[in-house]
Amino acid sequence: MAEGTGGAGTPSGIKFRSLAVVIAAVAVLLSLVSLFSIGRAVAAYEEFAEATESYIACENAANQLQAGSDYLTTQVRLFVTRRDVSHLNNFFIEARETRRRDLAVETLGELVGESDAHTYLDRALEYSSELLEIERYAMRLVVEAEGIPMRGYVEQLSDIELTPEDAALSPAEKLERANELVLGEEYQRYDQLIDQCVALCKDSLMSRLGLERSRTSNTLGSSLRLARDLVVGLVLAVVAMVLGLVSLVLVPLHAYVQGIERGSRLEASGARELRILADAYNEMFDENLRSNEQLRRKSQVDALTGIYNREVFEGLLGETATDEVALLLLDIDHFKEINDTYGHLVGDEALKKVAAQLAHAFRSSDYPCRIGGDEFAVIMMQATPEISPVITAKIEAIRTALLDTSDGVPPLTLSIGIAFGPGPDDETRDMGLYKRADEALYRVKEAGRNGYQFW
Ligand code: GH3
Ligand code: MG
Repeated sequence: MAEGTGGAGTPSGIKFRSLAVVIAAVAVLLSLVSLFSIGRAVAAYEEFAEATESYIACENAANQLQAGSDYLTTQVRLFVTRRDVSHLNNFFIEARETRRRDLAVETLGELVGESDAHTYLDRALEYSSELLEIERYAMRLVVEAEGIPMRGYVEQLSDIELTPEDAALSPAEKLERANELVLGEEYQRYDQLIDQCVALCKDSLMSRLGLERSRTSNTLGSSLRLARDLVVGLVLAVVAMVLGLVSLVLVPLHAYVQGIERGSRLEASGARELRILADAYNEMFDENLRSNEQLRRKSQVDALTGIYNREVFEGLLGETATDEVALLLLDIDHFKEINDTYGHLVGDEALKKVAAQLAHAFRSSDYPCRIGGDEFAVIMMQATPEISPVITAKIEAIRTALLDTSDGVPPLTLSIGIAFGPGPDDETRDMGLYKRADEALYRVKEAGRNGYQFW
């Protein structure tokens, strides 16, 4: 058995291994980029969520700041106009404990960081403490005018000293002065300035957070779109892998298995590896056919003479029973004497010589056979009595050759009976071809041998 693919060269076609390597590489690459893109999307999402949280916190803080300031203004004005200590208490509870305004400022301070917005916030705080001083001073005036005892939250005002002019005022005048302070233009102006600074701080912060949000949302969107496209690519790679596997491997493999089950040659198809396999299989297949044919021929050939044996002869006789054939039966005359005189080896040579002459004289489409010890037969295909002269000429040539002793074989003569099939259309047809030829041969023997007769 020859190795590899024989002389036919390497078969063409896609190598499945190369295809698999390429697709796997593409899939790995796509997966890595997808992972990277998804990681980027997650980071962008977290940043976006943080910016959104800050956005909401800023909005809330600004509202709280406004609400806290409004509440303080309301309470101080109510105290100044109604002189009810509960409003003073409310004021200090808000200013010292609830501290909405301070807490909101702290939150905003954290959010603004070191940006422009901080300047606005600082300014708002400055104005706020100015305002607080005005408020406390106004409340102190009311406490003095009303003679409210210094206890509870009122004590928070104990550190405030009235100016000598204000101290000299009558209680009614002190109340009027306090009213002017918390309802007057200056108070109003500070209030508006605080509002403006807070609004500016809030706007600056909100626009920064808005930009941050739109930047991170863009990154999030583009990363997700990229991840989606990559996943589509991955799906396509998987589909290509499956299609490649089916068309290059599975379908050809199925065809190969069917071919092997049928016992036929394989038609090379699919991946190059499979084509190589098919070529190798076909070569073994042909080799096997050749050796089977050789074995079959050997079993059909007579070992000594190399022409067909009796088995082939009998088979042919059956197969050609109704065909137009000629049958020659040939027997060597006094062959026993040759054996006896010259020995078996010479006898064998004589048999080989006769066989060689038969093989030489007749066409390759005819069948020379050795059917017994010194008995031979020739079945001539497509032969009718019209070719009797041709047969006669062949017999004469053989007879001449057998009398030639230059090869060391003693002179040989043959007795030959000839008959044609399928026989005349009468009762002799039932005799059969063999019998008629045998009868003709018998008659030659009877007549003294060394001759031939047509039946
Ligand atoms: P006839 O003229 O009547 O045909 O006489 P014959 O001697 O040829 O006939 P017979 O049948 O008596 O003898 C055939 C001989 O052929 C007998 C046998 O020893 C010999 N023989 C048969 N097979 C072989 C063989 O393979 N080799 C040799 N050397 N002799 C064989
Ligand atoms: Mg004989």
